[in-house]
Amino acid sequence: MKKRLLIIGAGGVGNVVAKKCARLTDVYSDIMLASRTKSKCDAIAAEIKEMKLQTAAVDADDAQQVAELIRSFKADLVINVALPYQDLPIMDACLETNVHYLDTANYEPIDEAKFEYSWQWAYQERFKEKGLMALLGCGFDPGVTGIFTAHAAKYHFDEIHYLDIVDCNAGDHGKAFATNFNPEINIREITQKGKYFENGQWVEIDAMSIHKPIDYPNVGPRESYLLYHEELESLVKNFPTLKRARFWMTFGQEYITHLRVLQNVGMTRIDPIMYNGVEVVPLQFLKAVLPEPSSLGENYTGETSIGCQIKGIKDGKDKTYFIYNNCKHQEAFDDVQAQGVSYTTGVPATIGAELMATGVWMKPGVYNVEEFNPDPFLAKLGEYGLPWHEMENVDLPHEY
Ligand code: NDP
Repeated sequence: MKKRLLIIGAGGVGNVVAKKCARLTDVYSDIMLASRTKSKCDAIAAEIKEMKLQTAAVDADDAQQVAELIRSFKADLVINVALPYQDLPIMDACLETNVHYLDTANYEPIDEAKFEYSWQWAYQERFKEKGLMALLGCGFDPGVTGIFTAHAAKYHFDEIHYLDIVDCNAGDHGKAFATNFNPEINIREITQKGKYFENGQWVEIDAMSIHKPIDYPNVGPRESYLLYHEELESLVKNFPTLKRARFWMTFGQEYITHLRVLQNVGMTRIDPIMYNGVEVVPLQFLKAVLPEPSSLGENYTGETSIGCQIKGIKDGKDKTYFIYNNCKHQEAFDDVQAQGVSYTTGVPATIGAELMATGVWMKPGVYNVEEFNPDPFLAKLGEYGLPWHEMENVDLPHEY
């Protein structure tokens, strides 16, 4: 039976998810796109031909509002592509109304720049008891990077020992400074301390203090910075043979200079200050003056390249393996009028939701993507716009 899908969030990623899901007319009978600002939902819906989307305004910080919307629309499944702050209220609403849940970023409290899965994993028993499923982190990273790792573990290794997730955006949007996903979430992520996993322990480092050039396919060497990224937490739990797991992301010099200045003048603070008798959070104000991620697509050139470099053991021998996707910003724009970072997030969310809606990936409880069979997901990834490639026993670009 076809399903009724509620998408919450109408930013860069919401645009991709709405347009991609609307093409799945054999999976969904009805789709509603809801967000804080209804006019953004209406603008996206107006560009969709395959299906007439319903739209609504919702404040997803309020679980009751979300629950009422789910009831009135009679949703079967909710895709949350609003902000990480809304994860828990939306999960609460799903529990109250007996609806399945999917997101692309793990919860973080608004007053502390700290993300971890503990808050959402704590919903495990409640989802299980109700026969509901929550799929966490089904974007690209987290998301496809976990599925790539699961594929490597299934087909290429007896034991995975070293994992480096390498994330490059070699694109140019022509702006002096802009972030490719929500500026507030992005800047909170990269200004906090870095962290990686080694020999059973987490090693903390100063923000952006470890960096080196990594050679990306079709791009070449780019300076890459070691960051903490949320999928490391679930991957070291789900692949206990890992001796080390790290995450690297490229940043251009111009971006880093802007960020340093913004930090130095206090514009990245997340605590409220008083301005003209009004409480203002500097980072939220900064977000309001920066370009919206959804607006960057039109003249964006270049491509992203994201993958997993893995070393481990197969049949008693050392083995290296690299699996990755490259996505051209212009091709993403031609498909759904989005830039590549929104696209590489929205396409995996679309596939994860389809696998849930069709019962291929369906078990009660709260799960990360790598806990499912990667085959049906990877079978669709190229077809839906993100072809992937693999290399065995190549010289990996950096040492282990
Ligand atoms: P945007 O800022 O472009 O969009 C966010 C959307 O959420 C906006 O439409 C915003 O509404 C809406 N929103 C914010 N607060 C609320 C609320 N209280 N109630 C209802 N709607 C709300 O961000 P992106 O689309 O770039 O990112 C969306 C999500 O995707 C983020 O959580 C981000 O972390 C995640 N992401 C995950 C990636 C991955 O690979 N896993 C990569 C990139 C992003 P309004 O327009 O009114 O502000």
